[in-house]
Amino acid sequence: MKYQSFLIKYAEIGVKGKNRYMFEDALVKQIRYALKAVEGEFEVTKESGRIYANALTDFDDEDAVAALKRVFGISAICPMVQVDDLGFEELKHQVASYLEQVYPEKNFTFKVNARRANKQYPMTSEEINRELGEVILERFPGLRVDVHQPEVMVHVEIRSRINLYSQVIPGPGGMPVGTNGRAMLLLSGGIDSPVAGYMIAKRGVVIEAVYFHAPPYTSDRAREKVVELARLVSRYAGPIRLQIVNFTDIQLYIYDQCPHEELTIIMRRYMMRIAQRIAEKQKCLGLITGESIGQVASQTVQSLAATNEVCSMPVFRPVIGFDKQEIVDIAEQIGTFETSIQPFEDCCTIFVAKHPVTKPNIHIIRKSEEKLSERIEEMVCEAVETAQTVLCQE
Ligand code: ATP
Ligand code: MG
Repeated sequence: MKYQSFLIKYAEIGVKGKNRYMFEDALVKQIRYALKAVEGEFEVTKESGRIYANALTDFDDEDAVAALKRVFGISAICPMVQVDDLGFEELKHQVASYLEQVYPEKNFTFKVNARRANKQYPMTSEEINRELGEVILERFPGLRVDVHQPEVMVHVEIRSRINLYSQVIPGPGGMPVGTNGRAMLLLSGGIDSPVAGYMIAKRGVVIEAVYFHAPPYTSDRAREKVVELARLVSRYAGPIRLQIVNFTDIQLYIYDQCPHEELTIIMRRYMMRIAQRIAEKQKCLGLITGESIGQVASQTVQSLAATNEVCSMPVFRPVIGFDKQEIVDIAEQIGTFETSIQPFEDCCTIFVAKHPVTKPNIHIIRKSEEKLSERIEEMVCEAVETAQTVLCQE
């Protein structure tokens, strides 16, 4: 059986009044975007608390469901058959023929769940349930009713037309991208930052990204890996504008002027400063990193405090309390893990000292940074101005 339509459900909690329209419109837009990548043509419409995606042409079933499963804000995807309301006698045939086509094996327990959005309909939901249940039992002797835990719940939604569906595929949840402002992701080639970007996008935030590249210490392949990661995250988050900042001169300058055990922390402070300047230019309201407490020397609580100190924008760290394995699990689930573990050097690993400070003292770090005062402002400005933009999308 080939469905031509999907009924798309979303969690309505917290989306009342004016917010609801914003939420629905953003969701429709994201669904259209996701389905554009699928073979076939679709029409996405919104109709009194329901969103439908109707295929206008032949389409790839599996791809369409996979694409919808990546749209934040969707709580469930229900492949559906929509029939005209031609009276109850006709509905009996329509429901039987639906089950006939959808379930080749006719031995399962079921329950009919009717809902009347059209209150003019001449029968109550209870009557519809009972009568359709009887028709189904007569027609398919292998089926049994189970009102508590049916294997198949036959939904019959009576509106101006009638929606029949019995498959409910879970969506990713979250909020549609575009309903919660914009933030700048510091995207490295590692496992954590793509996951962090995914998690914030899931809350409805539009994601932009910045990558600090240090050629020739980091290769073109390392850069390509980051572009690929941004593209993978964009499958969920929508198109991502990635800025590639040339960080080499700044890194070398810090290396020349500052104590080596403080390199990582000072470098990270400059990454945050530059990311914030670019974020302000792009009207982002926050920064996002993949930091997690205690994971590496630069992520002790003291180091995080020292990195955070240079930011006036909020820094979102969605994986802050996760173990590595928990982050890996999400990376695998969203499909970034394989790319993240490709072994290309990232710019931090080249300049790491043997014994980096793990409990940096902010006063000492500030003192060390004074040694950069002659050229650093000019170098930061240049890094911001010469950043290259790559639009990453499917
Ligand atoms: P990840 O797996 O995300 O690379 P990590 O475990 O390697 O993280 P760090 O290298 O300490 O951790 O980086 C911490 C965070 O700083 C990263 O999650 C990322 O948000 C940001 N970051 C690190 N290096 C870069 C870079 N070259 N470009 C952009 N952001 C970076
Ligand atoms: Mg890293």
